[in-house]
Amino acid sequence: MNTVGHFINGQVIETAERTQDVFNPATGEISKQVAIAAKNTVEEAIAAAQVAYPEWRNTPPAKRAKVMFKFKHLLEENADKICALIGEEHGKIPHDAMGELTRGIENVEFACSAPQMLKGEHSRNVGPNIDSWSEMQPLGVVAGITPFNFPAMVPLWMFPLAIVCGNTFVLKPSERDPSCALLLAQLMQEAGLPDGVLNVVNGDKVAVDTLLTAPDVKAVSFVGSTPIAEYVYATATAHGKRCQALGGAKNHAIIMPDADMDNAVAALTGAAFGSSGERCMALSVAVCVGDEAADTFIEKMSGAMQSLKVGAYTDSSNDFGPVITEAHKQKVNGYISSAEQQGATIVVDGRNPDVAGFENGFYVGGTLIDKVQPGMTCYEEEIFGPVLLVVRAESMEQAMQMINEHEYGNGTCIFTRDGEAARYFSDNILVGMVGINVPLPVPVAYHSFGGWKRSLFGSLGTYGPDGVRFYTNRKTITQRWPSSGVREGAQFSFPSH
Ligand code: NAD
Repeated sequence: MNTVGHFINGQVIETAERTQDVFNPATGEISKQVAIAAKNTVEEAIAAAQVAYPEWRNTPPAKRAKVMFKFKHLLEENADKICALIGEEHGKIPHDAMGELTRGIENVEFACSAPQMLKGEHSRNVGPNIDSWSEMQPLGVVAGITPFNFPAMVPLWMFPLAIVCGNTFVLKPSERDPSCALLLAQLMQEAGLPDGVLNVVNGDKVAVDTLLTAPDVKAVSFVGSTPIAEYVYATATAHGKRCQALGGAKNHAIIMPDADMDNAVAALTGAAFGSSGERCMALSVAVCVGDEAADTFIEKMSGAMQSLKVGAYTDSSNDFGPVITEAHKQKVNGYISSAEQQGATIVVDGRNPDVAGFENGFYVGGTLIDKVQPGMTCYEEEIFGPVLLVVRAESMEQAMQMINEHEYGNGTCIFTRDGEAARYFSDNILVGMVGINVPLPVPVAYHSFGGWKRSLFGSLGTYGPDGVRFYTNRKTITQRWPSSGVREGAQFSFPSH
């Protein structure tokens, strides 16, 4: 059986002391093995990145950007291959896989503007014959640790920008769908990236812990669930590293009584069930203001859900595919059962759907649950499945209070025709990414992505301008060139105008 290896110093390494099964979630079969790196393998990758760093740091930004231009073209040329890998290992249907890849490519396009981003700032004559400027210098070796749900896009949030800024990189992708990251690294090599600048190690906690504690790793970008994000942030910062750790979510949409209900239902259908709800920006809670809005929403949404198609990635007419593992399927089903036991009403039940020909796949159908309340397990925790909860609120203030009191603060949105309400909402809601009649407000590549509260540990978001700040150290230089000899005597007061 094929084993997905590591990519270290430009070489694919297939030997491994330990391996782990990789499943095809659509069929439920083991399709390949993934090498699980031992500590010394991760150390080899860090050492390769450390050796490659001095030359890469001093490569002109325009030359580094040229690699990214070529990489962008290679991603486009290899899009079908990348999407097929995403389908086989994640289960995502082709147009959704293409959407993820396109968003990833946009991050590569942003990285192509490196010379502009790294220019810094310059002031002439900050004092008599004194000039001052700031530079954005790379950090050294940086690491990225990524989740299963965007095997192409989340790595592309990280390494193109880090590398174009002059850093070298060690990527630890999810062990559940590892092939995509390996292919991306090979395409970077084909684009002209020198060996050692980008390395990929597959693995588990052993690999992560090695990256978090190695003295040569200067910064860590993490994306994954909140408990692991919190651990990664605490460990990396305790070891003197810069860290940004993006965690889980519970994204609410407020449906106001004046909302265009058909539009809201169409938007939420995609945002709740697309990618089987396995998106950190999935809208998993609809907070309807008033019983009338709630009843209309439930009626229209359950109608729309009649035509939802869950199935394998091999049929592009499906709306979404399986969840990632059998264990995750059981977990999602468990949340649905807990809602029922705690007094909510299951309106559409997606447990154990019939998917003809794929009986062993990890499928959960679209599920709609009404009369959910704060305090219920299904409300408090991230389900990460195709499950939409409906909470009934008496007022917009009450709906906002629920959102503000929730531990997560990744994304949210409001559906309304009232501009004043929308402005009040975006001004006062304690969430990092806000949509107004836009269900998935994922910022474009030239903005930055980041939640609030327990959805992000660290002070900078990922990609865009925040990404540049994260992957660089600002240095400010103040310079004077006296012609000769001592012009001024010693000064003991603090220099000022
Ligand atoms: P996960 O936390 O299980 O895994 C993420 C990474 O951490 C993987 O590379 C994994 O190998 C590693 N890891 C797992 N257990 C570990 C441990 N005990 N110690 C050290 N490392 C460990 O997350 P996942 O299931 O792959 O992804 C889904 C989660 O990611 C969801 O919670 C989702 O909301 C979140 N997510 C967040 C964002 C965001 O931008 N905020 C984006 C995508 C996904």
